[in-house]
Amino acid sequence: SVKTDGKGSFRFFQARFFEAIRTRLETELELRSALDLQQFVVHYQPRVDLAAGTASSMEALVRWDRPGKGLVGPDSFIALAEETGLIVQLGEQVVDSVCRQLAHWARDGAVLVPVSVNISPRQFSQCDVPALFRSASLRHGIDPSLLEIEVTESSMMQEGIGESDVFRQLRGLGIKLCIDDFGTGYSSLSQLQKLRFDVLKIDRAFVLRIEHPDGDTLIASMIAMAHALGMRVVAEGVESIRQMQLLKTLGCDEGQGYYFSRPVAPGERQPVAAHAFP
Ligand code: C2E
Ligand code: MG
Ligand code: MG
Ligand code: MG
Repeated sequence: SVKTDGKGSFRFFQARFFEAIRTRLETELELRSALDLQQFVVHYQPRVDLAAGTASSMEALVRWDRPGKGLVGPDSFIALAEETGLIVQLGEQVVDSVCRQLAHWARDGAVLVPVSVNISPRQFSQCDVPALFRSASLRHGIDPSLLEIEVTESSMMQEGIGESDVFRQLRGLGIKLCIDDFGTGYSSLSQLQKLRFDVLKIDRAFVLRIEHPDGDTLIASMIAMAHALGMRVVAEGVESIRQMQLLKTLGCDEGQGYYFSRPVAPGERQPVAAHAFP
């Protein structure tokens, strides 16, 4: 009968619900121990100057080297790290790792380019981000102006981070600010003008549609707006030579994506291949 079915599906739902909670608790415990055991590693992906054909900076992207599971990407643990507050510790490890790596490259005599670090809204509300960047750069003896911060357009607008003194303090350290995943949030022109980001990263979704009707018009108008506000423009998710050429024609300053390089471990750091610019 209908009644029995109802109970059955309730029990089924209940079982699934407890199962989901257990998995979550287990992952939370594993995240905690991963932090203690320093199982997080940072990979680097170059951002390429489209006119010069050289890497102008790199983005730091965290991965979890999870025993028995290989490298796990941030999309499967950042949200939980944020909900549990573990993002604060994770962020400390990422910033420390980036500064240590920059110091290492400097000792090796490498040409240093700035590294951008993704910071989520919870990190701004739960920790002193300027103090974190200041202390890590001091500890490793690197110039804080080698660091940049990426904040997604959507998180920016929700939390009103830009309203606080934090951005001013970061600028005081010489740290540049990038607005990430642009075009997926709902920022207004007045907010953009007020917040004065240095770099605008056009979301991958727009690059994917660049060859569709009007796809280029949309990108062209984002570039015009960003340039009018004094920002450099980076296109994310560039995967083909065609996309790269179109972006260059539209006046986009930089590109980032698998076409140039995947994110790689610091040891594997490759110069951008010459074939990328025929
Ligand atoms: P994001 O900051 O927008 O980073 C770009 C993402 O696009 C990265 O995914 C990168 O590997 C991927 N990507 C780069 N080029 C291409 C391409 O040509 N095609 C495609 N399909 N994808 C490309 P990833 O590494 O999985 O990171 C996902 C998100 O996790 C990042 O998005 C960022 O929001 C967040 N994240 C990464 N590292 C950190 C971190 O240390 N702290 C925080 N709070 N968030 C982080
Ligand atoms: Mg980013
Ligand atoms: Mg992005
Ligand atoms: Mg993203």
